[in-house]
Amino acid sequence: MTHSPHGTQPLPVVVAGAGPAGLTAALALRHHGLPVTVLEADAEDRVRPGSRALFVHRDSLALLGTISPGLDRTLAAHGVVWHTRRTVYRDREVFARTYPEAPAGTAPPFTSLRQVETEKHLLRACERAGVRFVWDAPVTGAESGPDGVRLFTADGTVYDAQYVIAADGARSTLRHALGITMSGTRSKAFHVVVDVAEDPADPMPLERVFTYEHPALGGRSVMRVPFAGGFQLDLQCKDGDVPEEWATEEAARRWVAQVVPAGYADRLLWVSRYHFLQVVADTFTDPQHRVLLVGEAAHLFPPFGARGMNSGIADAVAAAEAVATALSGGERAAAVGAFASARRAAAQFNSRAAGTALAHLRPRHRLTRVRQAVSARMAPLVPAWGEWLERAPYGPRSAPAAATAGRY
Ligand SMILES: Cc1cc2nc3c(=O)[nH]c(=O)nc-3n(C[C@H](O)[C@H](O)[C@H](O)COP(=O)(O)OP(=O)(O)OC[C@H]3O[C@@H](n4cnc5c(N)ncnc54)[C@H](O)[C@@H]3O)c2cc1C
Repeated sequence: MTHSPHGTQPLPVVVAGAGPAGLTAALALRHHGLPVTVLEADAEDRVRPGSRALFVHRDSLALLGTISPGLDRTLAAHGVVWHTRRTVYRDREVFARTYPEAPAGTAPPFTSLRQVETEKHLLRACERAGVRFVWDAPVTGAESGPDGVRLFTADGTVYDAQYVIAADGARSTLRHALGITMSGTRSKAFHVVVDVAEDPADPMPLERVFTYEHPALGGRSVMRVPFAGGFQLDLQCKDGDVPEEWATEEAARRWVAQVVPAGYADRLLWVSRYHFLQVVADTFTDPQHRVLLVGEAAHLFPPFGARGMNSGIADAVAAAEAVATALSGGERAAAVGAFASARRAAAQFNSRAAGTALAHLRPRHRLTRVRQAVSARMAPLVPAWGEWLERAPYGPRSAPAAATAGRY
């Protein structure tokens, strides 16, 4: 037996998923004055795993501050900014630069905090803005037609909406229900991500450090990124490495002690691994232009380069704008179609940028590796070569149309 909680009138818009993309979409819709219902599969008291996305880029902060005044300042106040970036090649520093602090009263270039914290502040902002949440409500199916979308949830409740923003993550039920496919690649080798709690008695310097071919790790590269309350280590494993030797908690304790003071091996918060994904949905909307895909429902990028959550925030703001335009009498296909093509182009840019980064991190040609070694040797004499070693692991910066991707 099914029932609709809102009688026969369709809701103007429903958001599926309360991750960072869904929460941002909900805030942006409220900013346009629209009532919004969020259907979330998890319970309200869920515990979200790991630190995941740390880096909230300046462009993302600006978008969030526009749709929810003050949210940018709240996130900046709860995050950290590092002013020093260093690159080490084996045991030799090849690049170090300290940037001036942003003048008082201006936005920082980014902020770094655990995604669970970012989501907490987004959720509070949504609650203040009057977003309606339905927790424990996994969407199990969807039908899109010329007049709107019918959503089916696990308890049999049916939601009719004029528009749906699909922010239901990498395994998106909505994307599957609408038959939207994804294309792209997945690297064979994996990275290991370890979140470590700061030791107040022995704090690590507030700087982002990338080490090529770390001598204590058998030549594996590793990056350290600070976040409020700790830091994340991203270890690039070699082809043929097995997770049992690098990605278990016990294994991580062993290698973490080689990279940072040994006491930090007892302060691990989270260990996970990922493959370099460059995967983009073949379309970001359905043929009726009623469902708009955002965030990981629409694209999957590696954490390296901070393109995931940041581009999800930009997707969500653009989707809300398209829905607001269509609901206020604009031409639906034009508004939603423009969203879909602009954000898909941004995703393709990000996907290519991730590919460029990957080609640097895992050179396919011996010549690239030789070029890196020569650049490291020459960096004291030719600083631009050290700068190249510093920049290349993250891939190209975002093009204007591709907002928003960051660089650690
Ligand atoms: C180890 C790691 C490190 C990362 N680091 C970074 C980083 O440094 N920078 C960066 O930008 N990104 C990073 N990312 C990526 C980032 O975490 C994701 O891009 C981000 O979480 C995607 O947000 P989202 O809202 O699209 O999806 P999700 O966060 O996956 O949220 C989807 C939501 O939808 C809900 N849901 C799922 N199915 C349904 C359904 N059927 N019905 C209703 N609700 C549903 C889920 O419960 C969830 O709440 C990292 C990821 C990992 C794993």
